[in-house]
Amino acid sequence: MTGENILRKMTGDMHVRQLAALGKARLQAAGVECADYDAKQLLFSCTGLTEASYLADPDRSVPQEVQKRYRQLISLREQRIPLQLILGSAWFYGREFFVNGDVLIPRPDTEILVEEAMKEIQPGDSVLDVCTGSGCILLTIACEQKLGESLGTDISAKALAVAQENRKRLSEEIRGCVPAFAQGDLLEPAAGRKFDVIVSNPPYIPAGVIPQLAPEVKDHDPLQALDGGEDGLVFYRRIAAGAGEFLKPDGLLFLEIGYDQAQAVSQILRNACFTDITVTRDYGGNDRVIRGVYGRS
Ligand code: GLN
Repeated sequence: MTGENILRKMTGDMHVRQLAALGKARLQAAGVECADYDAKQLLFSCTGLTEASYLADPDRSVPQEVQKRYRQLISLREQRIPLQLILGSAWFYGREFFVNGDVLIPRPDTEILVEEAMKEIQPGDSVLDVCTGSGCILLTIACEQKLGESLGTDISAKALAVAQENRKRLSEEIRGCVPAFAQGDLLEPAAGRKFDVIVSNPPYIPAGVIPQLAPEVKDHDPLQALDGGEDGLVFYRRIAAGAGEFLKPDGLLFLEIGYDQAQAVSQILRNACFTDITVTRDYGGNDRVIRGVYGRS
């Protein structure tokens, strides 16, 4: 019996636990990877329950209206719309960010980039975030450290509107200068300025690989935020070639990379006068972040 049939057979009085099981079954059947987690998150969002209140009373009954709303959310997720887009928010480095279809959904992997950068960013440092998207990298750093004047750039005005909304939502937590956002191609909006640190999670998926990605990614993350050109390395070449002009002496560059790109991007950085290059792995054991120092001999 499918989840929907189970639901039809049951009358009014469904309990949260039954709803969670029903949602999980439907999402599993639709090929959703974390069906149990996603079904519960959708349930919590329409009931207002938390994990703790759910566990404390899994037999609490749910009003018809709320059940209906829950079924609607489950069917969106069945269509492989990402959980974060349905909820309108994504958690990143312990903070909630507003997201919509105009930005790449922040990934846990990118937290490694923030973590690595945070080890070296000093109070008062200026940070340039290239391809800022939702603003998750720069705004997180600005909440964690007292920054000097910092800037996030993106070619997409719609993405920057999301970053601005997140800046507003996090305004209480930003410790130093409030980061600015500017629209333009990669480093261009930073013309004439120099920074202590540049961070970027540029698009890095080889164009030919995109059709093989999960529907949540290929159909819902902006293509512009994924597509790294034929070999996936186009933006690394362009950022590395231009970054020196925007970095103070001994300035640092941190880039997120794909699992198989460490060697190629190291070479790109060396060719662009970066030294002391280090690579950090993510929690899955894949190379994820590359860091270089500009022009130290
Ligand atoms: N900087 C944003 C993030 O890491 C967006 C990156 C992108 O659009 N490629 O989530």
